[in-house]
Amino acid sequence: MPEPIYLDHAATTPVREEVLEAMLPFFGPRFGNPSSLHRWGREARAAVDEARERVASTIGARPDELCFTSCGTEADNMAVLGVWRSRRDTGRNAAVSTPIEHKAVLGALHEVAHEGGDERLLGMQASGLVDDASFDALVNDAAAVCSVMWVNNEIGVMQDVPSLARRARERGVVFHTDAVQAFGKVTIDAATTPFDLLSISGHKIGAPKGIGALYIRRGTPMSPLLFGGSQDRGRRPGTENVAMAVGLARAAELTVAEQADECRRLGALRDRLEAALLERIPDAVIHGRGAPRAPHVTNISVPGTDSEALLMALDLRGVACSAGSACQSGSITPSHVLSALGVPADLAGAAIRMSLGSLTTDACITRVAELFPALVEKARRLATA
Ligand code: PLP
Repeated sequence: MPEPIYLDHAATTPVREEVLEAMLPFFGPRFGNPSSLHRWGREARAAVDEARERVASTIGARPDELCFTSCGTEADNMAVLGVWRSRRDTGRNAAVSTPIEHKAVLGALHEVAHEGGDERLLGMQASGLVDDASFDALVNDAAAVCSVMWVNNEIGVMQDVPSLARRARERGVVFHTDAVQAFGKVTIDAATTPFDLLSISGHKIGAPKGIGALYIRRGTPMSPLLFGGSQDRGRRPGTENVAMAVGLARAAELTVAEQADECRRLGALRDRLEAALLERIPDAVIHGRGAPRAPHVTNISVPGTDSEALLMALDLRGVACSAGSACQSGSITPSHVLSALGVPADLAGAAIRMSLGSLTTDACITRVAELFPALVEKARRLATA
């Protein structure tokens, strides 16, 4: 069997060698607790401080605006709940988001409703972009926080975050963006783009699972989710994960340094794949194609097939893709993202997400472009037999 092909980089990425190398000393001799005053502690403190500075500099932020978290999910929860809880008593009781967010944001929004807040979901255009009229109606003086993801993890659609952030600010609404899939794909600069909060996750950019960060602009109201010590100035108590912070810093720097070339490379591969698939399967639908998209995700539905069977057939031939976000695989409910964009249930139930990244080569694309149409043909023959 030929080498397996990993087309699931939006689910997770391999840890980069440079990242592992940077982390290893902190699993060995440099094991100190950053809160300790002795030399081991001072050494660990210096490593966390340096990592904070380096991650912050990749997004044009100041080090004190960067809070390390255990993952992207925690960063998203902290942004939505932390801001809403700190503003709820000021007459701003609503939290606004989109129906196509990752569950890390949608779950936090449900919690807002559970705690007595007003949960508001924006209307969407069929293309995958936020509906402007709905934004103007819901992001108003009763809203505490608005969260709109920069790049969608299922279809790759890229929102106009600079414009949305500016409009939220004009109305006094704190603006958060989930940039977990955007980091390394769009230019992020806190100095020129008026978002107040921004989430990133290590394992999408070559660092290990279990580390993330939340950018919190100076002056943003924020209640902590955790209670305990005074680490991170009380914003996020708990002994810092020194090795992971160091790993995230290395991964973030490498990712940003390679961003321009890698985006060009992935965009060309994605375009070639889509063109080849559409040529051989003319009735295939590529979701989000009418909107600006990040270069690493394509999501395709072929009428008359279903994603589970296709995924299994692909897997048997060594190709790893997903049906939507990884958190949903294993369940056959259609993607909440596609449903929210008005994609009919049968088409949503046929969606296959292919996500490209460091492991994707020209040869991978050539092979999938040949294999996928053949599997589709077989699935369709079986369905009509
Ligand atoms: N937000 C988006 C857009 C994601 O794609 C993911 C992961 O799939 C997350 C948040 C959650 O990140 P983590 O897995 O680090 O909790």
